[in-house]
Amino acid sequence: MSTSNSNSSPIFQEESFIDIVSKYVSLNESRNILKGNCPFHRDSTNSFMISPAKNIFKCFGCGQEGGVIEFIMLIENKSVEESIALLKNQFGLKIS
Ligand SMILES: [Zn+2]
Repeated sequence: MSTSNSNSSPIFQEESFIDIVSKYVSLNESRNILKGNCPFHRDSTNSFMISPAKNIFKCFGCGQEGGVIEFIMLIENKSVEESIALLKNQFGLKIS
């Protein structure tokens, strides 16, 4: 018996991550990335960046980075399980 589903990674369309983040952060498009004021520190210089190709965020001001689950954990102050539940319930994300 093999149990090889140790990696739980979210499955979603490219736009979904941006859709979710843009509910919290106002994003501006800049070449292949999206920028905005970081929601995790006092920012007025658009330090917060999203890579649509990789579905990750990174802030060059405070160093926060990660994927959609980390984003929800940070911005909603929730656990991994709560964040996954929120993504499923509110955004219809399929997480295997
Ligand atoms: Zn920041």
